[in-house]
Amino acid sequence: MQDSIFTKIIKDEIPCHKIYEDDTVLAFLDIHPITTGHMLVVPKKQIEFLWDLDDETYQHVMAVAKKLSNHARVTLNVPFVGAQVIGVDVPHAHIHIIPFTDVSEYHNVPDMSAEPNHGALSATARKLTLI
Ligand code: AMP
Repeated sequence: MQDSIFTKIIKDEIPCHKIYEDDTVLAFLDIHPITTGHMLVVPKKQIEFLWDLDDETYQHVMAVAKKLSNHARVTLNVPFVGAQVIGVDVPHAHIHIIPFTDVSEYHNVPDMSAEPNHGALSATARKLTLI
């Protein structure tokens, strides 16, 4: 199986704005964020669909998603944190965690062809990191 872009991030072959890491999971900021703090919680095991993970890994991914969502609510001072499972672009299981204040932000459609704003992403990662 070819390494996914997320496996390359997990192997440190390409950089990311890391938020959290343990033996099973890596979480980092989405480079085309829907909102400030939009992050991806990714199992280190490369399995295409979240729904195909073994129960133990799935439950751990969900537990980390919960922990990071509550952390984002406090750290970014936002009332809501949404979650999405899409998986159309990257064939490696992940959950999108999306902090927001107004529901209109949650429906933002990012320009996927735009150059990532690494300055803004670094500043957000500095606030959110739990490493
Ligand atoms: P989807 O597979 O449809 O859930 O979307 C994959 C998400 O991964 C998109 O929101 C992309 O912006 C994001 N993404 C793709 N490559 C990277 C990367 N190198 N670092 C961070 N996020 C990424």
